[in-house]
Amino acid sequence: MRAASSPLVEALNSLEALRAPLVAGTPPPVERTAAVLRMAQILKPAVEAHREAPDPDKYAEFLAAFVESCPVTSAALAGVDLAQADADGVGRDWLSVLAAYLKAVVADWPAIEGKAPAGTRRRILAGIRRACVVPVSGPGGKARHRVLTSADVRQNEPVTVLRRRAVHRLLGGRSGTPFELYTYTQKPYALPSPLPSERSALDALDRLGFGCDPSFLPASERVSVLVAMTVFAGSINSADDRAELVRRHLVRPVEVIVPGGRVRYEITVEPGDRPLMRADRLGETGIRPPAWVTPGSGVAAAKQGLVTALGLSGMPEKGGLPWTEDHVGFVASALVRLPVADRAALRGVALVRHAERPSTAPGSVHAACLHVTEHDIDTGFPALPPPPHIHCSNAVFTDVDLTCAGAPGDPAHVGEFTVAHEAGHAVSLCFDAENRASIARLTVGLRGYQDALAPVLPYVRQTTARAEAYNALDALLGPFAQAYGPAMTADRALEEGDRTGYAAAVQAYGGFYQNEAKCAAVLKAAQDADALLDAPQRIFEKYTKVFVRRHRLLHDLLSSGTAAALVRFATYADRIGLPRLTHYAGTNVQEWFAEVYALFCTDRERLWELDWRLCRWLEDGRPKIADYDPAAP
Ligand SMILES: [Zn+2]
Repeated sequence: MRAASSPLVEALNSLEALRAPLVAGTPPPVERTAAVLRMAQILKPAVEAHREAPDPDKYAEFLAAFVESCPVTSAALAGVDLAQADADGVGRDWLSVLAAYLKAVVADWPAIEGKAPAGTRRRILAGIRRACVVPVSGPGGKARHRVLTSADVRQNEPVTVLRRRAVHRLLGGRSGTPFELYTYTQKPYALPSPLPSERSALDALDRLGFGCDPSFLPASERVSVLVAMTVFAGSINSADDRAELVRRHLVRPVEVIVPGGRVRYEITVEPGDRPLMRADRLGETGIRPPAWVTPGSGVAAAKQGLVTALGLSGMPEKGGLPWTEDHVGFVASALVRLPVADRAALRGVALVRHAERPSTAPGSVHAACLHVTEHDIDTGFPALPPPPHIHCSNAVFTDVDLTCAGAPGDPAHVGEFTVAHEAGHAVSLCFDAENRASIARLTVGLRGYQDALAPVLPYVRQTTARAEAYNALDALLGPFAQAYGPAMTADRALEEGDRTGYAAAVQAYGGFYQNEAKCAAVLKAAQDADALLDAPQRIFEKYTKVFVRRHRLLHDLLSSGTAAALVRFATYADRIGLPRLTHYAGTNVQEWFAEVYALFCTDRERLWELDWRLCRWLEDGRPKIADYDPAAP
């Protein structure tokens, strides 16, 4: 206990008393409700006291200790069977206390930032991440966790707006600490029996050179998490480049083995002379399929539900393993994480159940793949619908890898991260359904005219005037046809992540088709040639119109469509200095985008903390970046 010499010190003492039962074990519900109400009573006078007589040092400590005392986190509620009353009572009360707290952070942090003790900011950020969860009504008269995040319909919910504003103020409008999501597969391990004591588990971690503050772990899971940390620390230690790994500020979402099952956690390594491990409880294992698939309705109905909801071209099987109802529910629970506006990118895509892994890069989970054009992976399976395909192998659905994803209160299976990653490829590489249909229509139309041209050409050669008119048209169309070159170059540049090359090639391509005078001249030449033909043979104008329209559309898609989003992403990421996020993201721009997109879907506020500008750019529909400058929250 600190000496009670000021209102802030009194408040800190009260918070310490509130937190004690949390550290000792899970408090019963009635105490939890009382604790939230007590927090409301502590908050107001402490904030007022600081504003009357500023004490930055103590106030910063208070802001950290306050959010750390919250009895409504996915850790504090571990093992609690939430009831409807929790949603109506403690859930509602916590929302209002949390909103008042976040307002205080927004208003007061900028002034105390420079005077706050080292480490306070990190504690507040971690505390907010843990505490932005609330019990809400769930099915069957039960309550469940809901993470307070700005996804879709909740984008303007006051508390999520406040959350983002508070994080923004805490980071001084800059990006958060760059971290690397450590997604390498975890080697299997078993819990020792009997379980070691907390002390000896901490000592084992200490011998590997890592410190840990286990007080944010629920008492019932503390030792199990320390064992998981030791296994993780062992795998870091066995790597040659431990110092380099630790420096990268690893974040390891992992399924921790606890007596009788598994729980999802996020282990964070904080660099230092003696690196520290922290673990935040994400929550229970399991998936939450959306209403598109009705549990128990059978696999055919489940597939139909998903196919209809997303406009997929089908859910075929390849290699002998059929879809099961569970697996359809699994993919659905991943895809429902996509922003509504992006789901259109999946229209016309086939989800292929695939027995083996498409490829196994050493150490990394590569359980699925998307291909837009013909691909070797389809060889021998002529019955598949035409691409794009997303292939999902066994590895998407199994949990051998012990990796997971998500936010505290909203945990996801690592396979959901993988499915969201592939959806990210679809978002960045597949033209949307309307444009795909338009291109197909124009291509078919052009082919029809090409067939019709053949019999006209001998007729053209019968008179010099007709031949000259045709040659004049051909001379104008010739350079247009050569524009395929820049289009191909653009495609290659995109694959290689060469932004400058891409921009130059698209511009060269557009040089032909965006030039009104050139287009007018070629159409005029086509009309002149047609004028020398009898009415039934007049085809040049029709042909030329479709030819030009198709290339204009292709150019527009290359310069402003979905493919361009990838180039914009890379350009913007370079501009704002976005870190790579995962090791795999370093492969190329496509993978980098897909990894960022998967985080955006599974843990959006994490991305906000990493870089709010990139998060906003994704939410704003991946606009052109020339003048893009998102407004601060
Ligand atoms: Zn990928």
